[in-house]
Amino acid sequence: HWGYDGFRPQQREAMQAVLEGRDSVVVLPTGGGKSLCYQAPAMVMDGLAVIVSPLISLMKDQVDGLRECGISAAAVNSSMSNSERAQIATELRQGRIKLLYVAPERLCTERMLDFLHELKLAFIAVDEAHCISNWGHDFRPEFRLLGQLRDAFPDIAVHAYTATATEHVRADIAEQLRLHEPEFIVGSFDRPNLQYRVVRRQQVRSQIRDVIARHQGESGIIYCISRREVDATAADLLADGYRAVPYHAGLTDEQRHRHQDQFVNDQVDIVVATVAFGMGIDKPDVRYVIHAAAPKSVEHYQQETGRAGRDSLPAECALFYGQGDFITWQKIQSELEGEAAEHMRRSLKLMEQYCASVSCRHRALVEHFGQDYDGDNCAACDACLDQLEVVEEPLILAQKILSCVVRVKEKFGGQYVAQVLHGSQEARILENGHDKLSTYKLLSEFPLNAIRDWIEQLVAQGCLEKDGEYRTLGVTPRGRQTLKGEWTPRLLQPARKNAASSAAAAKTDHEAPFDAGLFEHLRQLRRELAGAKHIPPFMVFGDVTLRDLSRRRPTTAAGFREVHGVGERKAAEYADRFLAAIVEYCTAQGLTTDEDAPRPPVAPVAPERTRDPSERGASQVMADRWFEQGLSVEAVAETMGRALSTTRQYLADYVRHTGRTSPEPWLDAATFDRIAAVATDYPEERLKPLFEYFEEAISYDDLRIALACLRNRQTKSL
Ligand code: ADP
Repeated sequence: HWGYDGFRPQQREAMQAVLEGRDSVVVLPTGGGKSLCYQAPAMVMDGLAVIVSPLISLMKDQVDGLRECGISAAAVNSSMSNSERAQIATELRQGRIKLLYVAPERLCTERMLDFLHELKLAFIAVDEAHCISNWGHDFRPEFRLLGQLRDAFPDIAVHAYTATATEHVRADIAEQLRLHEPEFIVGSFDRPNLQYRVVRRQQVRSQIRDVIARHQGESGIIYCISRREVDATAADLLADGYRAVPYHAGLTDEQRHRHQDQFVNDQVDIVVATVAFGMGIDKPDVRYVIHAAAPKSVEHYQQETGRAGRDSLPAECALFYGQGDFITWQKIQSELEGEAAEHMRRSLKLMEQYCASVSCRHRALVEHFGQDYDGDNCAACDACLDQLEVVEEPLILAQKILSCVVRVKEKFGGQYVAQVLHGSQEARILENGHDKLSTYKLLSEFPLNAIRDWIEQLVAQGCLEKDGEYRTLGVTPRGRQTLKGEWTPRLLQPARKNAASSAAAAKTDHEAPFDAGLFEHLRQLRRELAGAKHIPPFMVFGDVTLRDLSRRRPTTAAGFREVHGVGERKAAEYADRFLAAIVEYCTAQGLTTDEDAPRPPVAPVAPERTRDPSERGASQVMADRWFEQGLSVEAVAETMGRALSTTRQYLADYVRHTGRTSPEPWLDAATFDRIAAVATDYPEERLKPLFEYFEEAISYDDLRIALACLRNRQTKSL
């Protein structure tokens, strides 16, 4: 149905729990693939899977997406007519629906529960399960009703799914749902395909444009704090010819829906929004998220940036912050009292530390959520991508700054201290006589912004602290140690090659190369097909599929079916149109297709396609080196942080490229001999008959490698 060839991390375990009927709490990050954890088991289990979901828009998307994959799913909600509901009830009684989506308040009505008792249930899955906990960020009282499910269906397993990380919330979910010794399955919170960058806000409009320029025609979200900024930014982008719309609570429901739909359907590229936007957006191909100001907590940051790159392709997250953002948030939330106010202040402080921090962003986020981060260099954040460089003499620099704080008697904030160090002529400084201090102008050779950054870095590293309403700087015990030369902080500044490397890095090569022109061509076709069916383009095929098509360039239905994300139903519906588009484009552009790929011995031997070495992507070259050393596919995938499916492609390409005639150690000699014995009867572009000949016992990947070796043998013997 889905056309995927492997599990995402923890999916197998989560599905196992469902299949075995054990209650479970599954915590995976946004884009981790939670839906499949209950959808796939629902397809092989007897009876109906009931999925509890908080938002009608989410349900609709899920149901439409499943139907596209040829799965009978339905939702019941208040927007339906009586006759529509009756129709679904009939189909449910006839056992023709596998998954039923329903909101908690509807599920927990007596009528609904009675109705479900007439049917055979497979299990109940609660999506966005953190909504049941008032410790979570999105408590919804109606979720509390779900506690009754245990009594209503004592023998049916209940599974909870969420992206919310804290242990507290997890335990609360299990308690509120009254789960029986649930299996807790918690994935890593790292999102390796997201590239994080945090920069002090300077000319935010141009900073925003720089990011957008790297993503022409791609989807992105820009978050601002206030409605006013949302409107101004959106208007500005529109005036510059970008397809952008605003989204905030000040618009009418109708306007908000329209803007959201336009974004999901690729009719606009950019949504400029307040925090009001996002819940219920499952658009998988958001390629960048910009924060034009700091969000109010690391949790919000994680959630909002998490909307980028759900399809696991590279995506960029840029945060432009200023010190004023934290004061603004404090004002907005000034009505909070007691514990809530304390919590808010703590959250803001942690967010501020994250902004000023000078170490790996992936590590900082993962550790924030209580997990360990493996590895020294994520290669996907400003700190690790050399966009920042270490200051040569951090101790002396820090001492200059700290002594200036002491000289102004710890009575002024960061901006003021930076101005004194920089040598500002501002009236306030002259009136206070601070131009007479020995630290005045002490750092005049550096830009004011750099000095501000270092002050924040010293706060983040505990040498300075901010106090009171005016956030005056004070020197901490660690700061005093630093003044005495007993402790050295780490201070960073933007690297000189900054601009170039950040642009290049944003396009980091995470996968094998594909033809960009063909990708655009297929994107256009996808848009047309989706428009005709009134569904979002990503439901026809995701970007991962279009890239894979632009890479493999299949010309036969069998080749089409092997592409990532192509299930039987979609193959039947779309193969003809896409194959025609591929052939047409490749012919016009003189591009090779899978027909030109190497063939088994029986096929006429095409001359070896001479490859331009530069055509081989950096990742492929890296993979070649590992394979050269005889590493397994699993080991190379792990070492390079790539999917197994991608790594298998690297291997096939490596075998072809190097002309190897033996598939060992990746395929054993006995299997190879079995394939060799019959391969001549099966031309390579039709792997399926061969696959069926071996009764599916030899995988497509093994077949492909074996055939590549056989072809190399033949070429050599000629
Ligand atoms: P979540 O609900 O955890 O945020 P989704 O269930 O929306 O994530 O999945 C995110 C994307 O990943 C979807 O496009 C989904 O189809 C895709 N996906 C899920 N599982 C796999 C898999 N095993 N292989 C490839 N893609 C997958």
